[in-house]
Amino acid sequence: MKSLQALTRPNVWNLKPYSSARDEYHGSAASIFLDANENPYNTPNNRYPDPMQHELKRELTHIKPVAPEQIFLGNGSDEAIDLLFRAFCEPQTDNVVAIDPTYGMYRVCADLNNVEYRPVLLDDAFRCSADRLLAATDGHTKLLFLCSPNNPTGNELSRQEVLRVINAFDGIVVLDEAYNDFSDTPSLLAELDSHPNLVVLQTFSKAYGCAGIRLGMAFAAAEIIALLNKIKYPYNVNSLTQQRAVEMLHRYYEIERWVKLLKEERTSLMKRFAALACTATVYPSDANFFLAKVSDAVAIYAYLVSEGIIVRNRHTVSLCGNCLRITVGTPSENEGLILALQKYDEHHPTPSA
Ligand code: PMP
Repeated sequence: MKSLQALTRPNVWNLKPYSSARDEYHGSAASIFLDANENPYNTPNNRYPDPMQHELKRELTHIKPVAPEQIFLGNGSDEAIDLLFRAFCEPQTDNVVAIDPTYGMYRVCADLNNVEYRPVLLDDAFRCSADRLLAATDGHTKLLFLCSPNNPTGNELSRQEVLRVINAFDGIVVLDEAYNDFSDTPSLLAELDSHPNLVVLQTFSKAYGCAGIRLGMAFAAAEIIALLNKIKYPYNVNSLTQQRAVEMLHRYYEIERWVKLLKEERTSLMKRFAALACTATVYPSDANFFLAKVSDAVAIYAYLVSEGIIVRNRHTVSLCGNCLRITVGTPSENEGLILALQKYDEHHPTPSA
């Protein structure tokens, strides 16, 4: 890995961050706060939130094999993705490499930050090749995005290929594990200490059932996390979010129960989906959704909308022609989807049927 200073944009490296009132106050328990121009009434929401989310990070260290200094918390993982661009990528000069297809925000953030985006196509079984990814890098490649399980394809990337990329690339590898809770492959978080160029992204939006509170996590070496903290908005995670997240972590058994249920439901839904006449292929999934190739994705998507059922049409995405991405819902939601598609089959017999 290049030195962190060599990878970081010079203006960011030299930046003197904004210092908020709550950042400057350290010391023994105070009882009178007259430092932040807050209204003293309407407690508790009259106070600014903890800018460094200490309590929440402490709770997270009980379930993640990391120290608090290795955790960045943001307004969804999307904030962490954007900050990684802003920390490392000089607009119009640097570039990033990513698997293709994958989560769309990496490209949007690249475009927004005026940074060249270099997609590297997966193979027809949605596998990545370390050699091909590394061949797409050059001296200006700062970030390399991997997503496992990948969105929209649903599969885990090969651990061996991922580690080869991390070990061989001299920039930062961002491994998005938003869906790792649904996979049987363990998170790479346990390997953080031996890989100083690895950033792992996880989120409260999927298995944790908290998409509405907007809370994303980035885990990395303390030096990388310090850089992200330096450039974030001072109070980027609001108090209500911090509270709800701590409450959710106190009920971690619920998350485990949901994950078990959703994995069981994924198996039965995929089996029933594969039996539909309009289905050509159901691709294997390690996530809480699966990708399926159907006879006519545009028509079936429109039909499902007319039935009040919304899935994701991925027809225009690389390697995903005529594919729909289906999120696993509750048993009754999944039943509703299958019944609707059985009705579609009755009215649209396929040539071979
Ligand atoms: N990463 C991946 C792979 C995703 O699919 C998504 C959301 N669809 C996110 C990140 C965004 O997560 P968040 O809600 O934490 O911003």
